Amino acid sequence: MKIEILKCTVCNDYTLEKICKSCKKPAITPKPAKYSPIDKYGKYRRLAKKNDMDN
Ligand SMILES: [Zn+2]
Repeated sequence: MKIEILKCTVCNDYTLEKICKSCKKPAITPKPAKYSPIDKYGKYRRLAKKNDMDN
């Protein structure tokens, strides 16, 4: 069974649970994933890609 470290989106605490034990908020994989609803870097990645195509 694969163990995945997750990170709470609210208190930034690391947990193995999908829901943070402290604040009951969802925990996500720390590394940015394009399917993540809270991927705040996705917007900038797409902007960078667009700039590349403009050049
Ligand atoms: Zn938390």
